[in-house]
Amino acid sequence: MVELVREAVGDSMEIMVDANQAGPVSASNPVAGAGVTWDLGRATATAREYEQLGVLWLEEPLPRYQFENLSRLRDAVGVPIAGGEGNTGLHEFHWMLRDGAYDIVQPDATTSEGLSQLRKVAATAELMGRQFIPHHGAGGIGLAAHLHLCATLRNSPWIEFIIDPPCRTLRSYQHLGGVLAEPLNIDEEGYLDVPTGSGLGVVIDEIALQRFATDTARSTTSRTRSTD
Ligand SMILES: [Mg+2]
Repeated sequence: MVELVREAVGDSMEIMVDANQAGPVSASNPVAGAGVTWDLGRATATAREYEQLGVLWLEEPLPRYQFENLSRLRDAVGVPIAGGEGNTGLHEFHWMLRDGAYDIVQPDATTSEGLSQLRKVAATAELMGRQFIPHHGAGGIGLAAHLHLCATLRNSPWIEFIIDPPCRTLRSYQHLGGVLAEPLNIDEEGYLDVPTGSGLGVVIDEIALQRFATDTARSTTSRTRSTD
């Protein structure tokens, strides 16, 4: 697949690969997500192939807590190793960086303690000579939040921007986690401007937001209000 993509885009575009091997762990899903499960051997062999194809980074090649194997992989291959979108908490990012797990950490403000903690993750990464390139933010609001943070950092050269039609279009993706009156968009060279309005600089479409409203009084059996 990567060979075909490289053939199609030539040198005009950078290619990053996401193996998605660091999904949630459960009894029915003991290692990663559905499909092929990678181990250190497969990750090493595949990363070496990617190196020949000029892949910029390999994301989530192994389960999310295999810090030791991720460190071995980093030592063995030339392609930078990225990950951390499913990890939570400043302490986990400290552990993974200390243990040499990733060249690029990818926390998400919407699932891991918010922007204030992510600033500390980014600073820790900078201190250790690693990059900080957050996960996609689960929608337009998360994307705007990451964009503001990354624009202030010297170790954050990319932003994850989802556009994958017909599955995920600009609007369908950025409507997740909130409804933006105007979705953020990249220019013809792939750059994304930081919004200049107040707050995160994006405007919520309050009318469209009503589609996601829930009548809590009718959806619970008692009148007790949820504290969620
Ligand atoms: Mg990913």
